[in-house]
Amino acid sequence: LSKEVIEADFTFVNGQLVPGVQVAIAGGMIEDVGRLGLRPNRRFDRCALLPGFVNAHSHAFQRGLRGQGETFPSGGGSFWTWREAMYGLVESLDADGFYELTRTAYREMRRAGITTVGEFHYLHHADAGRDYALDRAVVAAARDAGIRQVVLSAYYRAGGFGLSLEGAQRRFETASPEEYWQQIDRLASEIQGQAQSIGAVVHSLRAASLEDLTAIHAEARRRGLVFHIHVEEQRAEVEACLEAYGTTPMAAILEAAEVDASFTAVHCTHTTAADMRQYLAAGGRVCVCPTTEANLGDGLPEAASMFEQPSTLCLGTDSNVRIAPVEEMRWLEYGQRLRHEARGMVAGDDGAVAPALFDVATAGGAASLGVAGGRIEAARVADFVVLDLDHPLLSGAREDTVLAAWITGGDERCIVATAVAGVWESATGQLVQTPDPG
Ligand SMILES: [Zn+2]
Repeated sequence: LSKEVIEADFTFVNGQLVPGVQVAIAGGMIEDVGRLGLRPNRRFDRCALLPGFVNAHSHAFQRGLRGQGETFPSGGGSFWTWREAMYGLVESLDADGFYELTRTAYREMRRAGITTVGEFHYLHHADAGRDYALDRAVVAAARDAGIRQVVLSAYYRAGGFGLSLEGAQRRFETASPEEYWQQIDRLASEIQGQAQSIGAVVHSLRAASLEDLTAIHAEARRRGLVFHIHVEEQRAEVEACLEAYGTTPMAAILEAAEVDASFTAVHCTHTTAADMRQYLAAGGRVCVCPTTEANLGDGLPEAASMFEQPSTLCLGTDSNVRIAPVEEMRWLEYGQRLRHEARGMVAGDDGAVAPALFDVATAGGAASLGVAGGRIEAARVADFVVLDLDHPLLSGAREDTVLAAWITGGDERCIVATAVAGVWESATGQLVQTPDPG
C-alpha cells in the first residue's frame, strides 16, 4: 500500500467542510490532515472528501429477498410472515449461493459509499451438521468485494423463549458457549489482518438463555470484543419475554450483562423510556435500521431519550431491502419528525441536523464496531467517500448546506469514488490506480 496525498476542494473535518486541506495516507491509514503544504498526487476537483459510511448492522444474504414477500393475499403480513420467507431463502442456499448473494450485497454497499460493514452473521451452516461452511464464505465475500468487515458472529441456540430449534433454524445453531468460542478462534485465523475483525453476538433473547448471554458477554469483554444483540424489534418479543422472565428484554439484559460502550443493542423499537434511560446511563449504544424497520412494519422507536445523545447512535441496512446510507440518515430524522410532529429531532448541540446524522452514519458506527474509522483524522483508517459538488441533485447548495442537501435530496448517485484502506474505486466499481508518488 503506497503513500499518497489527497486533496479535494473541501474536506469534512470537525463537523464541517473545510477548504484547502490535504490528507496524507500510508499503509491504509491516515497519517496527517491539515494545511500540510504538500503537493497532492490525487486531486478531486469540485468535490468534497468525507469519511466512508459505516453500516453497523447487516444480514447480507437477505439481499436475496428483495422484491419478494410484498404481496399479501390474506390482507396483511407481519415481521413473522416475512421471517417465514427468509427461512425459505435459508433452506435454498448452499455455500456458493450464500457467497454470491453476500458479495453482491457488499458490492452494492461499496457503490453506496459504505466502506465498513458490521455483518451480524447467524447463518453458519451449509447443512444441519454444524459445518460452519458459511463462516468462510462470509469472510471471502467481503475480501472479494473490497469492503472492510467486522464479522459479528452470532450465537443462536433456541427457537424462542424455552423452545428448541426447528427446521431452517438448525442452520444457525451453536450448541454451547464453548463451541461458540472455539469457532471464533477458527474464524480469527481466517480473517485478513487490517480490513477484517471479529465481534461477539448473541442473536436475541429469543435465541439464547440468560445464562448463555451472561457467559458470552463476559468472555467478549475479557477479550476486548464489541458485543451486539437484537433487542425489542417486535412487541411479540417483549410480550414473550415478560411471560418467560417477568421483565422486558432490555431489563433482563441490564440484569444479565455489564453494559458499557462496547455494547450495541440493535433496534430498541419498543424499548420503554425508563429502560432506555438506564441502558444509556450504563454507556450502551443503539443501532437503528430505519428502512428495514419500515419495510417490516416494526414501528418507530418509542424512547425519545435515544435521540438526545446522537453520539451513542449508529445505523444499519439490516435486511438490505435497500442499500442507501443517505436514506437511513434521512429516515432516522424523518421517522421522529412524523412521530412527534416536530423537526430537528437528531441534532447536534448547535441544532444542526446534517452533521449530527452524518456522524451517526460514520463515527457512531465505527465506535459500535470497534473500528478506527468514521472520521478524517490521523491514526484513523483511510476509508473515504468523494461527493460530487456539481451533481444536479445538489445544485444550489453551498458548502454549509450541501451535506443537508445530500441527506434530504440526494442519494448514492452523488458519489464519484470511494476508498477502503487507501484503495480507490470509482462509483461504477472500477479500481482506480494510485498515482506514482514520485
Ligand atoms: Zn438484524
